[in-house]
Amino acid sequence: MGAILLKNILLDGRISDIFIDNGRIGKIVWHDGRWGSAEMMAGQGGQDAAPDGYAVNGNFVAVPDGAVGVSSGAVDAVDCTGGMSSGTVEIIDCTGKAAVPGFVNMHTHAAMSLMRGLGEDMVFGDWIDRIWGVESRIDEEYVYWGTKVACVEMLRTGTTSFNDHYWFSPAGYRAAVEMGLRPVVSYVVMDKGSEAEAEREKEQIQRMYEESLAWGPHRFAAGFHAVYSVSPEMIVWVAGFAAEHGLRLHFHLSETEQEFRNCLKETGLTPVQYLDSLGVLGPNAIAAHTLWLDDLDVELLGSRHVNCVHNINSNLKLASGYRFRYSELKAAGANICIGTDGCASSNNMDMLEAMKTSAIVQKAWRGDPSAMPLDELLAMATSNGARALGIGTGEIKEGACADILIVDTDNSFFLSDAPFLANFIYSAHSDCISSVICNGRFVMRDRVVEGEEEILENARKVLGKIRNGN
Ligand SMILES: [Zn+2]
Repeated sequence: MGAILLKNILLDGRISDIFIDNGRIGKIVWHDGRWGSAEMMAGQGGQDAAPDGYAVNGNFVAVPDGAVGVSSGAVDAVDCTGGMSSGTVEIIDCTGKAAVPGFVNMHTHAAMSLMRGLGEDMVFGDWIDRIWGVESRIDEEYVYWGTKVACVEMLRTGTTSFNDHYWFSPAGYRAAVEMGLRPVVSYVVMDKGSEAEAEREKEQIQRMYEESLAWGPHRFAAGFHAVYSVSPEMIVWVAGFAAEHGLRLHFHLSETEQEFRNCLKETGLTPVQYLDSLGVLGPNAIAAHTLWLDDLDVELLGSRHVNCVHNINSNLKLASGYRFRYSELKAAGANICIGTDGCASSNNMDMLEAMKTSAIVQKAWRGDPSAMPLDELLAMATSNGARALGIGTGEIKEGACADILIVDTDNSFFLSDAPFLANFIYSAHSDCISSVICNGRFVMRDRVVEGEEEILENARKVLGKIRNGN
């Protein structure tokens, strides 16, 4: 695999050259030219040669054809599995394009890409029964191809890392890695109070954890479904398992008013306080939704430094609610991230759409247009998620994993002099993302994702088998 030099690309409002090697961002050189300047438009610095600045760190030597040779900079690539450089560099003129960190989708059920539209216009309880009915018939093959379909869509919409919460997780993991994305998959326990089921789940997660040791760090997480579907004994056990093995713990929390009220009725505690009483809340906890909260809940999630994942489109669609207490949670010390949830509820995995909806709903219900500003919104969709998962991505900086979206600004959405992020998040659509680099290699190039036709064909076959009751 060769190295990549993105020349003349807009980054944080300035023109830069970004050098990528061995899965990581090796060096960033800033030009003096400003966004939109005549210099930038002329593509100054666009010659096929490395700028002088690159020679400074001693890793680069000029080769006769004008490309750049790279001495083997053996970087310890814990999170970036890009492989070693072959010593060649592909130089790409990115004049008129912008670089954005790849999105980190912090809560999804990827294989639900095959369940779109199955439970429309249904109340939450009926919807989840319908989905569980379908899920009782799915298998490894379904999850594998469903995750591949999800990956095609994630790449088209700029997601390079995702935190999955689904069944048959090794199949989902394999599918995503083959597509070049960075997945973190959870084994989700759900005993529904059955002791036999709890024992089976314990064996399964242990087995899967052992299998995951070959995957590298931060690729496998423990998980449970929710307080209403898992016994307290099982929750305590799986939290202990996560702590023992240094894993993240991923679960749904306080998603609906009904969950909040039932928990209060049955335990005398809100779902957040109930989990806290079980000793489950801490910085390794990734709690999806956290929508129905009282003041003590906010305080607890903050003081325990829980990672709270906002899934606005799912919440709106299932009428679960929309008053996500963003500023209060943030002020209390929680780390706030964005997720799309699965396609059975939110229908797509478009993080740009999720960012926009999160912000405009937040502004609306608070009656405050300054709520959830652009830079915080981008952090929620990138670096906050990376921090929650402990992976070295989410920012474009030297040494970070090279997960970069190349955004085409040569269209109507970016004509105005507005800050790039304003037009990117509020005006444009994800089809302005022309190429995606993950782990230092192209995983989508000029909107083409390799193998897409075969993936759709196999997904159709899998759906046919389910339809025919096999
Ligand atoms: Zn979910």
